[in-house]
Amino acid sequence: MTTLTGSPALKLQVMCEGIRYTAALGRAAAHSMPNYYPYRFKPGEADPTGRGIATIPYLINTADGTEIRILGDGDSPWHVEGDAERGYALIDDRSGRREAIEFEPLRPWLTQKTDDGLPYAQAGVTTHGDMLVINVAPGCEYFLHKHDGVSMRCGFCAYGAPDERTLHLGQKTGQVEIPQPTLDRMAQAFEAVCSQTEIRHVYLVGGSLTDARKEGERFLQLARYVKQINHRRIPVALGSGAIPDDLLERFHAEQLVQHVCFNLEQGDAELFAKICPGKNRYVGYARWIESLETAVRLWGRGHVYTAMVAGIELEPEHGLEWEDASRRALAGAEDLCRRGIIPVYSLVWPVGGRQRPDFHARILSYFETLVFGCRDIRRRHALTISEGFMCHRCAYMQLECDLERVEEVMA
Ligand code: SF4
Repeated sequence: MTTLTGSPALKLQVMCEGIRYTAALGRAAAHSMPNYYPYRFKPGEADPTGRGIATIPYLINTADGTEIRILGDGDSPWHVEGDAERGYALIDDRSGRREAIEFEPLRPWLTQKTDDGLPYAQAGVTTHGDMLVINVAPGCEYFLHKHDGVSMRCGFCAYGAPDERTLHLGQKTGQVEIPQPTLDRMAQAFEAVCSQTEIRHVYLVGGSLTDARKEGERFLQLARYVKQINHRRIPVALGSGAIPDDLLERFHAEQLVQHVCFNLEQGDAELFAKICPGKNRYVGYARWIESLETAVRLWGRGHVYTAMVAGIELEPEHGLEWEDASRRALAGAEDLCRRGIIPVYSLVWPVGGRQRPDFHARILSYFETLVFGCRDIRRRHALTISEGFMCHRCAYMQLECDLERVEEVMA
């Protein structure tokens, strides 16, 4: 295993161990892109806000452009000191090591509005680093269904059903088409973001529909519209669910997207069924892979991805230690790469098991084993992550691009 140094090593540790609250971290929120998840003080932790929660920044940028998502954790050995004038440092209590950092800034678009007064931040665009994510229909129908008392939503998902939270986007249950005013507002936000920061990847995502064909039609409408407004010709990735092959052929024939990423979440059929019951019921594991294989046939190797949630298998209910979990995940990665499909792993901490003294250590062991193992599997299958799809400047909770960059530097 390569020993990581520099920013990638820092990123791996901070991703797995989190950052605990300090006044400096709280102050940084005033000039940084805000985190979607507020900091939650643990019982007994000093809480200077007196509210139990605090706004914190979303992303750390290191001097070489490495991006790290901030996960707040009162048990973390990492904390932040400094201020905007003198600069910030990330400090490891165990060794006293200090790393100079910056936070992803609060760009003007985050406080600007469309012509008819909708904040751009609610117009269906978000960014992390140089990736712009378009999500104009975030409500997921899986949240609306239960079978045998089990909700069809994925176990880790923080989205929700199409409801009052999606009304400002005009999304309603049962309606496939995206309303034109929603697309036009998104276009204004898209232009504002692209003119204020360098965007090098566009990613189309959205909540799922129980009918994969209808979901494909919605994405077709979106991708056609994005092609019209994407004057800078930024590469676009299709992040729908596994949609029917004839629709994929239309995306390809019309050259609407350059990359495809249907998120399987788990490379193990049994865990997929447990963790993603809706995807399993309405699409199925085998069909999901077939759809990705069709995409490989159309777009070619190196253009087809599947995002995975890594770490959720450590939830106590699955009864897995990190060694078993990483072994199963690596077997799945081997199978996918053999088919020309590249899995990309986002770290998602288990909710349970916090009382274990090795809570952080097992996450770190699991994730490190997984990402290094996958790096070797990709190499063996001659697969590399396309710079058009993602890079180290946008991979905020993934390590693949950082590892590939380490190899480039060493070559
Ligand atoms: S399909 Fe996507 S949006 Fe729906 S529950 Fe699963 S992860 Fe969430």
